[in-house]
Amino acid sequence: MLFEVVMSGSGGQGILFMGNLLAQAALREGRHVTFLPTYGAAMRGGTANCVVKVAAEEVASPVMHRPHAAIVLNQQSLNKFGPAVRAGGFIIANSSAIDIAGFSRDDDVRIVPVPATDIAREVAKTDRAANMVMLAAFLSLEPLVQSASIETILSASSSLSPDVIQRNVAAFRAGLPKHFAAVTVPKPAAPAAAAEMPETASPVIVEAPADAVAAEGAVEAPVFDVDGYVAPWIDSEKCSTCEECVNINPNMFAYDHRKKAYIKDPNAGPYKHLVRAAEKCSEKVIHPGYPADRSEKGIARLIEKARKFMQTGGAR
Ligand code: SF4
Repeated sequence: MLFEVVMSGSGGQGILFMGNLLAQAALREGRHVTFLPTYGAAMRGGTANCVVKVAAEEVASPVMHRPHAAIVLNQQSLNKFGPAVRAGGFIIANSSAIDIAGFSRDDDVRIVPVPATDIAREVAKTDRAANMVMLAAFLSLEPLVQSASIETILSASSSLSPDVIQRNVAAFRAGLPKHFAAVTVPKPAAPAAAAEMPETASPVIVEAPADAVAAEGAVEAPVFDVDGYVAPWIDSEKCSTCEECVNINPNMFAYDHRKKAYIKDPNAGPYKHLVRAAEKCSEKVIHPGYPADRSEKGIARLIEKARKFMQTGGAR
């Protein structure tokens, strides 16, 4: 079964780090995973968010469809993504920063208040580890991956100092054994509007247009805001190991244990390497995303070239 979770907060709350950690842990455990981050809006004062999908089978699209769960670290994120969670799903809300009293749904969704910032301050001496408490609370409710996988990846992170790793692990462990009480989201006082998503829903991640989804399992057509950052991704399952991408930049592209290519580090070279790899890829399974840094020479032309590879399935 596919499980889809959206994570959201403000820039600097480690949302993408949390999503990446979950995605890596699932990958490590042999599952099929997509990770779709965006923080373009956050740079303009909005929310940073990402969508992680984990499944036993190949995942057709990384685009948010109807998440089973949301992990929200600020009020704006609850307002934006709370309504998107499917009926029967749940929301982990950072109650140190969110007032859940005004949130309502006319269907069956649970909300789990977790005082993550307070816990992080207490055990890790920093607000910034609240994301780890939230991830642990999520895994307590939905054991999508083993906590040991998270800790192993966290401990091996070369981008964090030993002190930061230690604080993150402490915050993660503090969230694990706690059984935070879930409460049912109250029904709205007045009949809800017909629309399932609010008008304030993310301009970056949107559900595919209805006519693009012909049948269950059909490929969704992502719609992206070209002004914002969209991370690159590879439909790794379809990779034929032709070596084109790893030859272009072995620091940016690598093979996993199955000899399928994945994006090792999107920042390990210029954006043109991503675009060139997408063009050279024999299976057309590389999606170069859209860059955060627009200062690269010829960037407008590169983005224009990238566009045709941003539909699932790529350009033929
Ligand atoms: S270029 Fe495409 S098919 Fe070739 S190794 Fe890279 S992802 Fe796989």
